[in-house]
Amino acid sequence: MRHTTLPRLLCGLLLSCAPALQAQTAAITILPAGSQPTAADPSHFTGSAQVESRFSQTTPARLGGGLVSFEPGARTAWHSHPLGQTLLVTAGEGWVQVWGGPVQTMRQGDVVLIPPGVKHWHGATASSSMSHFAVAEALDGNTVTWMEKVSAHVYGRNLLAPE
Ligand code: MN
Repeated sequence: MRHTTLPRLLCGLLLSCAPALQAQTAAITILPAGSQPTAADPSHFTGSAQVESRFSQTTPARLGGGLVSFEPGARTAWHSHPLGQTLLVTAGEGWVQVWGGPVQTMRQGDVVLIPPGVKHWHGATASSSMSHFAVAEALDGNTVTWMEKVSAHVYGRNLLAPE
């Protein structure tokens, strides 16, 4: 009895694993470090900023993002994300601010959670460069709504009262 039951049990276990193994045939993509660096769109950024390693997962996944590097003084325009945005600061020191709120300082290693639909900007401080990897999920294909630029007056106010 043992001779028939054990192989049947093993066979059942292996067969139950087979579909999972077969499903793992799709290729994994590695985007090389520093891939496709481009200057950030000057209509949505002030100062010198570079975007690289831009990625977008395929449907039905909705995650996309890229590594953005800001020179001192560089920042995004005001904008919002329909499903929010997560920033992972990889180098330097930067500022992030919600409309009507205080400027907040973010540093290398920090993870910054920006809620859905909130008007905000992010960028380097006036004296330090800053890089962050930014990821966001798309809603109906849209990850960002751009607004007006952050004026020198508003940005300069942060010099007086940074957190
Ligand atoms: Mn943002």
